[in-house]
Amino acid sequence: MITLGDKQFEKYLSATDVQHAVNGVAVRIGDDFKDKNPVFLVVLNGAFFFAADLIKRFTYPCELSFIKVASYEGLHSSGDISTVMGAEPSLKGRHVIVVEDIVDSGNTIEAIIEILNQEQVASYAIASLFYKPEAYLKSFPLDYVGMEIEDRFIVGYGLDYNGLGRNLKDIYILKAKQMTNLVLFGPPGAGKGTQAALIKDRYELVHISTGDVFRYNMKNNTELGQAAKAYMDRGDLVPDSLTIDMLRAEVEKNPQAKGFIFDGFPRTEAQAAALDELLESMNSSVSGCVALEVDTEILVERLLERGKTSGRADDQDESKIRNRFDEYNEKTAVLKEYYRNQDKFHAVDGVGSIDEITARLTAVIDQL
Ligand code: AMP
Repeated sequence: MITLGDKQFEKYLSATDVQHAVNGVAVRIGDDFKDKNPVFLVVLNGAFFFAADLIKRFTYPCELSFIKVASYEGLHSSGDISTVMGAEPSLKGRHVIVVEDIVDSGNTIEAIIEILNQEQVASYAIASLFYKPEAYLKSFPLDYVGMEIEDRFIVGYGLDYNGLGRNLKDIYILKAKQMTNLVLFGPPGAGKGTQAALIKDRYELVHISTGDVFRYNMKNNTELGQAAKAYMDRGDLVPDSLTIDMLRAEVEKNPQAKGFIFDGFPRTEAQAAALDELLESMNSSVSGCVALEVDTEILVERLLERGKTSGRADDQDESKIRNRFDEYNEKTAVLKEYYRNQDKFHAVDGVGSIDEITARLTAVIDQL
């Protein structure tokens, strides 16, 4: 990943891919124009790398001219084209090959074609290294296209973002908006589920509670539910392999998510490492681990109270509740260090009214 000004970009195409595309265009133009003494009309500034590589590969008589028009401001095509520098000498009666770095809306090409018509050229052809079919609004045919790309903002090999990035040999793409991935952390009964339900709406996140997913599977007597039941009933953690596979499947069900609230996951170091790996494969990461801190004795009371109505076997028996705390202290509490080491750990006082705690959490999340 690279940073240009205020934006982050990630690798999209290698220099080799680019050279391959240039070669393809060069071969086709060579075949078509070898005996026409064409004028390559290079559209500045972005096409200068492409033009240099392309024209070196055209081994027949030709001439070279430059034109400069302006359309891009920052990331968006403004649509208004102005000629900053016209072609010299006259193109009248010549076979002109317009050399463009990229065609997206087609506004620039349209303006250039108008100029060529005014100049009364004998013929013109358009050669563009990149073409965004989804963004193209015109109907002029593009004669030579190096590569079609999706409608995303790219830099490198002559193309810039606010003047930067032209010198990159590879092509980079504007990084998609970062996801917000929250690990909602804390011992059983800390209020993770209650708070997650409120926070997910506020930040438009997908809430994954591993406990809920296991309970759903138990209720529906699925294979996963059967495998998890004995552990859950005792208040033990379900083995990592089962839990990690299940979590991965839940994440993959939501490919469009703006982010996730992980509630009750990770609960072991192996799960934390698996989560990092999974998010990395999606070009993302944990944004922060927010921990609800509540004194153990208050938690035991809360869970016994909840057990009266929740129907959860693991909430109704104090020894099972204590076992869940033992599991938490032995296997899960170490994750504070895991996230502290990544500078991602944030403790929040989990005692107070629901609204008070939500306000404390959102104050932290807004800073992530
Ligand atoms: P919870 O609803 O988060 O309190 O979870 C209830 C029970 O589900 C736990 O006591 C475990 O048996 C199981 N469980 C939930 N999440 C995990 C996890 N990340 N790893 C292992 N077991 C889990």
